[in-house]
This record gives sequence, structure tokens and C-alpha cells, in this order.
Amino acid sequence: MNPQQLTLALSKGRIFEETLPMLEAAGIRVLEDPEKSRKLILATNDPHLRVIIVRASDVPTYVQYGAADFGVAGKDVLLEHGGAGLYQPIDLAIAACRMSVAVSQGFDYDYAVRQGARLRVATKYTEIARQHFASKGVHIDLIKLYGSMELAPLVGLSDVIVDLVSTGNTLVANHLVEVEKIMDISSRLVVNQAALKLKRERLQPLLHAFSAAVALAAESAKCSAPSQLMQSMQKMQKEL
Ligand code: AMP
Repeated sequence: MNPQQLTLALSKGRIFEETLPMLEAAGIRVLEDPEKSRKLILATNDPHLRVIIVRASDVPTYVQYGAADFGVAGKDVLLEHGGAGLYQPIDLAIAACRMSVAVSQGFDYDYAVRQGARLRVATKYTEIARQHFASKGVHIDLIKLYGSMELAPLVGLSDVIVDLVSTGNTLVANHLVEVEKIMDISSRLVVNQAALKLKRERLQPLLHAFSAAVALAAESAKCSAPSQLMQSMQKMQKEL
């Protein structure tokens, strides 16, 4: 392992775009745009830091096995992955949305739950759905899908879906109703546990820059994130 070389795993789209200003706060510019280039390894102005572009759900895997030293992944993706081998020091508070249960208009979800009905649940997020319904004592049949979950209740594949909701526009466009929020979701910085120790000198300034950028954003949004941030920074310092 070259202690100088760092690899950051990001996914295209919202996570890439919202991570860029945090990198810039650390003086780092990515030299290519993944929306325009087909390259999967992008150089930065720091010759010892490169960015790899991977599918959002693969970010934890690249970091877990040390193919990337650190990365940015949604809480949804991390819960499905399980988090093995990953240190999660900072909630970056980006790509915010929520994980929710939605049903077709006209489906009485509360009644079905009260009646103890067995529900067919279509979702990409099987772990989150399994845990949610188990905690409610609702029996379910899980149907794993890889996309377009909104279609499932409309064509009778499932009674409910579990999916990410941001504006709610996709649900409305498909005549679905959000009936239960399972949790708030945002993206977190994840660090390979071995890299955190072996590449500490290189990683620490970057982690501090990310933290400072989050604190600044939180301050301008006048929310309570800075105190949470301080706690996670203190935890990280202890583990270093
Ligand atoms: P919206 O119409 O804004 O509620 O967005 C809902 C659609 O976007 C659904 O298909 C979701 O799976 C997807 N979505 C919303 N937020 C996110 C996110 N943070 N990451 C990935 N997919 C998302």
C-alpha cells in the first residue's frame, strides 16, 4: 500500500455534484466531468489523489476491500451493505431524502396493518424493508426489484413499495401515496478502516476539510448538525 496515494470512490449524479464543493474546500479539483467523460478513473489537481466513479451501491464494497480508501455513500446503501470494514466518521448531510412506504391511491394501508394482513412489499431496499416491517410485527413477502418500484402496485405485483422519496413528485405522477416515513436518508463519508490507520497523515486533513465544509453548510442552514459533527469528530480522533 502506497501511503501517499489516495483513492476516493464516488457515484455519478447528485453525490458527485454535492461532494465537489467539499473537495474544493480542501483545495482539490477533479479535472474531468464524469457526465462528459467515459473514464472511470479521474485525476485531480493533487497528483496523489484520484477519484473512481462506481455505481452508488458499489461504493461501500470498493471501500471495504481497500480498492478505494474512502468514499461517499447514502445511508440507504450503507444499511443494505451492512457496513463491514467501514468507518463512518461524517454525515455529510448531502443528497438528503427519506425512505418511505407508499401504496396505490385507494389501498387502505392502516386497515391492512390493523387486520394483520400479509403484505407484498416490492423494493430494492430489502434489508431496510425487512427490519421495518419486522419491528412493526407485520408479515411480508419481499419482492426484490432493481428499479421503477413505483410500477409494482399499479400492475398488481405488490401491495406496497419501499423507496426513496425526495420531492414526492414521482409518487404523485404514478398515483401513489406516501403512508409511512421509515427514516431520513443522507450521504456519509466512509473510510476503509485499515487506510484510516495506515494513511492517517494523508486522510486527516481531508476529513477535517469535509467536516469544516459540513459545519459551514449547517451553520448557514441554522440547523443543529454542528454538535453532531463535533461528536463524530471527537469519536474519530479517539479512534485514530
Ligand atoms: P422524487 O420524485 O423527487 O420524490 O424522487 C423520487 C425518485 O428519485 C425515486 O425513483 C427515488 O428512487 C429516486 N431518489 C430520490 N432521492 C434519491 C436519492 N437521494 N438517491 C437516489 N435516488 C433517489
